[in-house]
Amino acid sequence: MWKDERIGKATFTRRDVLKIAGAAGIMAALPWSGAPEAVAAAPTLKGRQAGGYYRFVIGEIEAVVISDGGLSFKPIQPTWAPEASKEDLEGMLRSAFLPTDRLNLEVNTLLLKIGGELVLVDTGAGNLFGPTLGKMPERLAASGVRPEQVTAVVISHAHGDHFGGLLDAAGKPVFPNAAYFASKTEIDYWTGPAPDMSKLRIPDENKKVFAANAKRYLGAIKDRLAPVSAGQKILPGMEVLSAPGHTPGHIALLVSSGKEALLNAADTVHHHVLMFAHPEWTSAFDSDPKLAAETRRKIFDRAAAEGLRVLGYHLPFPGIGHVRTSKGGGFEWLPEPWSWTMA
Ligand SMILES: [Zn+2]
Repeated sequence: MWKDERIGKATFTRRDVLKIAGAAGIMAALPWSGAPEAVAAAPTLKGRQAGGYYRFVIGEIEAVVISDGGLSFKPIQPTWAPEASKEDLEGMLRSAFLPTDRLNLEVNTLLLKIGGELVLVDTGAGNLFGPTLGKMPERLAASGVRPEQVTAVVISHAHGDHFGGLLDAAGKPVFPNAAYFASKTEIDYWTGPAPDMSKLRIPDENKKVFAANAKRYLGAIKDRLAPVSAGQKILPGMEVLSAPGHTPGHIALLVSSGKEALLNAADTVHHHVLMFAHPEWTSAFDSDPKLAAETRRKIFDRAAAEGLRVLGYHLPFPGIGHVRTSKGGGFEWLPEPWSWTMA
């Protein structure tokens, strides 16, 4: 009845197995765990995430979301949702099983192949933020694209986490063959003599850094920078939508091919729980918080009414999903399931 079990070089009796199982958990009783040569030390599973890009299609348009990484804001207030009571804010995060002491945001750049053009929408933070960002170039390479193959770069607005990837550590353009696009309002605002930053709720020191970086980066590409306006098509199937408030010239993009479309909402929304449930909750980085909230509601209303697929630059990777109205007068984010088939 107590038959020997021989696996590799290990020999157990059933009694041994039961003894081990009792002492060290049932895993130890599995026959292969007794083979010495098969139990090399288990490697750690912690560390950097791999991949970081996600392929999908919009009709005939090929698309890849390329993650630049993520960033964490601690504490949450007053930078985020300063209008919310601490109780409401924490209650909402807790009910979504999210930490209440920090707000994690991701950074999703978008690469599109439209006809023969390779268009990158926003570039990540480059060297401007800490080590958790600036991953776009390596992930672009991993997805099979060289920077010199990118023919156009669209900057949704001139904040460092969107334009930082334009220049490398030496200050050289990362995309030497690209034409650049940003809204005329945005270019005029940042390159003008004194951008009005009176409604931003960040320290004056930071405002100065924002303005200096915007001037420097937009300046570096100015010879190839084309101003665009709402309603204009940068390429067939890529229409500029006005989405002011986060910055004066912040734009969204409607990318469409055949019956399919993607609304790239850029920074119209930053958080997948807070700002959908409460579109009126804003960010200290908004140049006009009231207008940013109005724009957010407008974009959500449109996305929900038309059933549009949406991409959010700061939503959990890959940041693609749909928007649905919810009972309380707010909205809900429904992330799209990861697809291995690109169907
Ligand atoms: Zn941003």
